[in-house]
Amino acid sequence: MNNLCNKATLEAIPSLSNKESDLIQKVAQTYPMKVTEYYLGLIREPGDPIYKQCIPSEEELSDPTGQSDPLQEDQHSPVPRLHHRYPDRVLLVVTNNCAIYCRFCTRKRNISDKTTAITDTELARVVEYLNDHQEVHDVLISGGDPFSLPLNRLEKIISAIRALPHIDFIRIGTRIPCVDPEQVTKEFCAMLKKYHPLYINVQFNSPEEITPRSQQACAMLADAGIQLGNQSVLLRGVNDTPEVIKKLVRKLLGMRVKPYYLFIADMVKGTGHFRTTVETGLGIIRSIQGWMSGMATPQLVIDLENGGGKVPLSPCNVIEKQDGKYTFRNFENKLYEYIEHQPSQTRS
Ligand SMILES: *Cc1c(COP(=O)(O)O)cnc(C)c1O
Repeated sequence: MNNLCNKATLEAIPSLSNKESDLIQKVAQTYPMKVTEYYLGLIREPGDPIYKQCIPSEEELSDPTGQSDPLQEDQHSPVPRLHHRYPDRVLLVVTNNCAIYCRFCTRKRNISDKTTAITDTELARVVEYLNDHQEVHDVLISGGDPFSLPLNRLEKIISAIRALPHIDFIRIGTRIPCVDPEQVTKEFCAMLKKYHPLYINVQFNSPEEITPRSQQACAMLADAGIQLGNQSVLLRGVNDTPEVIKKLVRKLLGMRVKPYYLFIADMVKGTGHFRTTVETGLGIIRSIQGWMSGMATPQLVIDLENGGGKVPLSPCNVIEKQDGKYTFRNFENKLYEYIEHQPSQTRS
């Protein structure tokens, strides 16, 4: 189950050459491949946006850039599975298993290990740590994919955290609605509904991923009262143009998912061929802001190498500032002046 890369899987891909198939199997020995039947079925031809996200590429083995743990998550882990990098929130990695292994994964270092899920002892230590850290108000449950855990395991984790009064809300990060939507069942939603306030961040990277089935999965979660956000990764050859991202965010809003973050791909070893420039990201944001509903703009973010953390990036619209006089640029690239009045101060 763990490594679904075999000949039968690859035969399901339309017009894949034998040579390509051999290469894929070679890369998968270093960086495992796993993909659901549903997601594989979305591939139309080798090299399309779905294919690129889930099928190993030779370039993974020849990446001269990157580190295995660029965010230095392993160094900000006070107890196993918990990452406390920011003042008021923590990241809890509950499993290293996923429904598919995205080729650009930030935690590529973890997926080749044997599948492990958080144990009761580990959960108890996490709860103890949170009890001692009353400044934490937001627990982000991630992985791996938390939704790949059995329902009762996931409920045990969520309920243990929910029992802590200083935790204001819980967040879950998952790709299941996108890559294995059938897993979002009524039972699943009924369980989650008991633990509000609950936010879920899904991950759709390309408009081709939005299908009647993934729409249905998001609708069920939204009907359970869960606020849905989307975290996309900017990926070369997949979604690195304004046209694609604009189409994506429109489709997301149409299924009650608010675009939350758009990430510059992390400096992870083996993913260099996906990385875009910062300017590409800023250009995409410029093409959305003002041109589309304010609801449509995700925050562009870069998660810095060497553990610098997330830095939000925005196109610079302050052109000049002098003696309380600003020059701003609007979405049409026209300049406007703004004079700031400071009522309590008199100037000479
Ligand atoms: C991304 C991340 C969070 C959550 O960040 P937000 O900006 O609040 O979405 C929390 N902890 C860690 C370690 C993270 O990497």
